[in-house]
Amino acid sequence: MNAEIKNLILQKIESYHTIIISRHIRPDGDAIGSTKGLCKLLRETYPDKKIYVVNEDYSDYLAFLGGEDIVDDSVYDGALQIVIDTGTADRISNRNYNKAKELIKIDHHIDDRPYGDISWVEDFRSSACEMIADFYLTHKDKLKMTPEAATYIYLGMVTDSGRFRYEGVTGETMRLAGALLDCGVDTEKLFANLYVDEFETLKLKSYVYDHIKLTPNGVAYIYMDDAAQKKLKLTLEAASDVVSELSAIRGSLIWLAFIDEKAKNQIRVRLRSRFLGVNELANKYHGGGHKMAAGATVYTQEEMNELIKDADKLLGEYKKTHGGWL
Ligand code: AMP
Repeated sequence: MNAEIKNLILQKIESYHTIIISRHIRPDGDAIGSTKGLCKLLRETYPDKKIYVVNEDYSDYLAFLGGEDIVDDSVYDGALQIVIDTGTADRISNRNYNKAKELIKIDHHIDDRPYGDISWVEDFRSSACEMIADFYLTHKDKLKMTPEAATYIYLGMVTDSGRFRYEGVTGETMRLAGALLDCGVDTEKLFANLYVDEFETLKLKSYVYDHIKLTPNGVAYIYMDDAAQKKLKLTLEAASDVVSELSAIRGSLIWLAFIDEKAKNQIRVRLRSRFLGVNELANKYHGGGHKMAAGATVYTQEEMNELIKDADKLLGEYKKTHGGWL
C-alpha cells in the first residue's frame, strides 16, 4: 500500500546527509518509539549520515526510553526534517521544523490539516510505529534493523494499540509486530518497564477510584484539580494518565479526565470511548483526535460542565438507539 510514497521517502532519506526526526508534544510510547526507532534504523543503515531526534519536551513516565538530541540551528541548513505521529503542525515538538530544506510527514491521525512537502498518512493504522515497521519491511533489502530499533518500534505498536486490543488492530498489525519480534525485541524487559508501578502510583489509583463521578447516562469523569495534583505530588503527565483508570466501568462507554493546567489557566480534557465516537465532541471544545481517543481544552468550570452534559446526552442517545454495549 502507498508503495510510491514509501519509495519517495526512501529516496529522500538517501539523498540527504542530515536528517532531523521530531514528534508531537506531550509524547506517548508511539511518538517516542517511532522517532527513536526510525532514527536507530537509519543510523544503522547509513552510518555516515547525521541523524538526530530533536524535540522540546519529554514525558517522565517514558524516561526509561532514554534521552534525545540537542542540535544547533545551523544543523537545519540543507537538512531533511521528518515529523512522525503528529496530526497538525502546531503540535510538533520542535519549533525549528520549518528551517529544514524539506519536510516529510508520517502519521496515522485523520489528516484534517495537512502539512509537509511529502505526506504519508494512513489513518487506519493502529500506530505510527506500525507505519515505521511497514516502511522497514517494504525496504527490507536496503534498511538494517537492530534489536534496539525493533524494540522502540514494537513498544509504540504495543502502547498505542492498548496492547493490541483496539479497533485499528488488523492481521497486518500482527504480521508487522511479528516481523519486529523476529528481529530480537526484549519483551520481558519492555513489559516490566511498562507494568511496574511506583508505590505512589498505587496511592494515586486509590484517589482516582474514590473521586470518579458518573453522569445519569454513564459518562465517567474525574477532575484532577490543582489541589489534588499538589497533594499527590503529580506532574501534569502523571495527572493526565488517570484517564486510563476510568476505562473499564460497565455501562460507561465514554470516560473523561479533566486536568487543571493552572499555569496556563486552562483545563486539559482527555476523552475516551468504546463503540461510539468522541472526536466530534472534542472538536466542539477546541480539540480533535481519533474517533475513540481525543483531546480538548476548556477554559472554565462552566465549560467543563457543558462538555460533561454534552457527553452525557451523546451517550444517552447512543444507548437508546443501540443494543449490545457493555
Ligand atoms: P490525548 O488525550 O492527549 O492522548 O489525545 C488523544 C488523541 O487526540 C491523540 O491522538 C492526540 O493527538 C489527539 N489530540 C489531543 N489533543 C488534541 C487537540 N487539541 N487537537 C487535535 N487533536 C488532539
